[in-house]
Amino acid sequence: MSRIYDRVALIGLGLIASSMFWAMKRGGLAGEVTGYARSVQTRDTAREIGLCDRVCDSAAEAVEGADLVVLCVPVGAMGSVMQDIAPHLKEGATLSDVGSVKRAVIEAVTPHLPEGVTFIPAHPLAGTEKSGPRSGFAELFDNRWCLLVPPEGVERAALTRLEALWRGMGANVEEMEADHHDLVLAVTSHAPHLIAYTMVGVADDLRRVTDSEVVKYSAAGFRDFTRIAASDPTMWRDVFLNNKEATLEILGRFTEELFALQRAIRTGDGDHLFDYFTRTRTIRRGIVEAGQDTAAPDFGRSEGGKT
Ligand code: NAP
Repeated sequence: MSRIYDRVALIGLGLIASSMFWAMKRGGLAGEVTGYARSVQTRDTAREIGLCDRVCDSAAEAVEGADLVVLCVPVGAMGSVMQDIAPHLKEGATLSDVGSVKRAVIEAVTPHLPEGVTFIPAHPLAGTEKSGPRSGFAELFDNRWCLLVPPEGVERAALTRLEALWRGMGANVEEMEADHHDLVLAVTSHAPHLIAYTMVGVADDLRRVTDSEVVKYSAAGFRDFTRIAASDPTMWRDVFLNNKEATLEILGRFTEELFALQRAIRTGDGDHLFDYFTRTRTIRRGIVEAGQDTAAPDFGRSEGGKT
């Protein structure tokens, strides 16, 4: 595979960015890859494990001279990160992101877009319940879909190049309109995630009766809910707060507990969602500790779970 970009900058160094880095290295798709994460701890970890050719201490430094900049932070952080890097983007650069919601990201990023920079939003439909710089692996995108959401009249050469990068990282690529993307993902990913969070939360509420049974018999379907419900609380809080309309449309008929989460999303009560998701995450740990499942991503299956 030949080099597609000379310089790529990854902003945010979690599951998706680290997987992109390893996949780009595997395919020889980029010259130098720079990276930036907001916390010193994540930057130190990245340096320790060789994640990125150069880890920078500011986002501005990381994007300097980059031909492609990819925002790999939670959806709710895209706007402020973009504001920071905008003055430092190279003329002629392509800007992209990997956010799980597209309309809200476009609205948050576009006002800060400098002249001469092409913005092409993207969403790889691949993930695991793990997060952070150590969680990535080169095969994450293999045979998964990556949806590109190009704006009308986008420069075709820039689009073709970004598409080639995703194909080089193993993904199948398709174009989709932003609102349609958000509706499709509400059905295939966002609502199922909320249901999984709810199921695990309900089981946690009932534990006085079923404590060990919930863990012991979890293989009968519940186990899959617990994997999904262990997903990153910040990421998923942001997905629901930023794909409000489509998610609420899909969720109309669910139980009282689900309505409580629905109300939290509608009122923007991120703390409620975060606390709930943090609680459900511990159930997953219990199952792994009880030997009912492996700690490897996606039950150790070769393919990651779609998100
Ligand atoms: P992750 O592993 O949790 O990593 C998130 C990264 O963003 C970390 O480097 C974190 O920095 C940084 N970050 C968090 N909050 C920030 C803020 N307020 N300002 C600046 N930086 C911040 O996340 P991920 O799973 O890679 O997800 C990244 C993006 O990909 C999200 O938009 C998500 O919707 C999307 N996505 C995720 C999946 C999935 O299954 N995980 C799949 C497809 C798309 P620190 O480490 O320094 O805190």
